[in-house]
Amino acid sequence: MENTSSYYCPCCKNHVSQFIPWPAGSFEPQPFQLENWNLETGICSICMAMDRERLYVWFIERETDLLRANVSVLHIDPEREKHVKNRMSTCANLHYVCGDSKPLDPWTKGLDATNLYFGDQAFDVVLCSHILENIPDDRKAMREFYRVMKVGGWGIMQVPLATNVETSFEDEQVVTPEDRIRAYGHQDRVRVYAKEDYIQRLESVGFRVELYNIAERYSIEEACKLGLSKEDNLYIVHKDA
Ligand SMILES: [Zn+2]
Repeated sequence: MENTSSYYCPCCKNHVSQFIPWPAGSFEPQPFQLENWNLETGICSICMAMDRERLYVWFIERETDLLRANVSVLHIDPEREKHVKNRMSTCANLHYVCGDSKPLDPWTKGLDATNLYFGDQAFDVVLCSHILENIPDDRKAMREFYRVMKVGGWGIMQVPLATNVETSFEDEQVVTPEDRIRAYGHQDRVRVYAKEDYIQRLESVGFRVELYNIAERYSIEEACKLGLSKEDNLYIVHKDA
């Protein structure tokens, strides 16, 4: 019998009739229009996976061999994407290392993204989602991610991205949590990126940047089924030879 549920969550593998909207108060700051911001379909009603987690898991399962290959993965600050962490930490094929500036469990290493203690080319894959916008010297962190990635490796590097501004917005006068919420939409952020500037920053440290968009690659219906839209891009970085 055909499943008539509107949505599908790749994190819990359930078909659901609806996703849960982001709660009031989690609105992004005006006047920015952001990618990867699906207000009405933010959260899975069964496993609570966020829209971006559904995108990451869908991409990893469908477009990569990450869950089968013998590769090493560095996941920066994994608590923000617990569904991705849970999926990968149980894969016996992976050498999965996760690290956070404030680790919450014994399996998460304490680390500074701008000064990693790993050797050069230590990892095949580096995952970093919604971290760089909180780091004042974000290029230093990007250089570290590039350094610890093997030649031929790849990564997912996501940040909140504004599509309606030409330059990234950052103001050194904005320092208090309250001001940061007003200016950037979150108390930890130190900027909101413009799309082209973000790509250029990644390219400036050596990465080749590839945009992955489900609506463009497959169909808008496929994206909508996951509670995503044509505005949802993954920023895939590559370290070429
Ligand atoms: Zn789910």
